[in-house]
Amino acid sequence: MKLTPSGQSEEAGNVVCDMCGSSTRAGEAGLQYGTLHAAWGNGSAHSGEVYELHLCEGCFFSLVSDIKRNRWASVMLEEEEGDAILKNDAFGRVSPGRVE
Ligand SMILES: [Zn+2]
Repeated sequence: MKLTPSGQSEEAGNVVCDMCGSSTRAGEAGLQYGTLHAAWGNGSAHSGEVYELHLCEGCFFSLVSDIKRNRWASVMLEEEEGDAILKNDAFGRVSPGRVE
């Protein structure tokens, strides 16, 4: 039994969302979740600490939206950059995913 860093058990192949508490199982697609991971190195305030949070699809994209809004708020007076952040549907994406 694997324990998530937040202390939740990963029993019987289930992973619970650390944000809403729901299972990340999505029917036949199986477990579908994103992770928020950090491993803080020397010199950081949390040196040596490692974090990993599991997020269901809804909570993951809610968090991405919050990050985009915060980023936008920091540059909102610079209209072009602010609009580009809000319109970027691939914000944070490192793989294009399935091409159909
Ligand atoms: Zn969730």
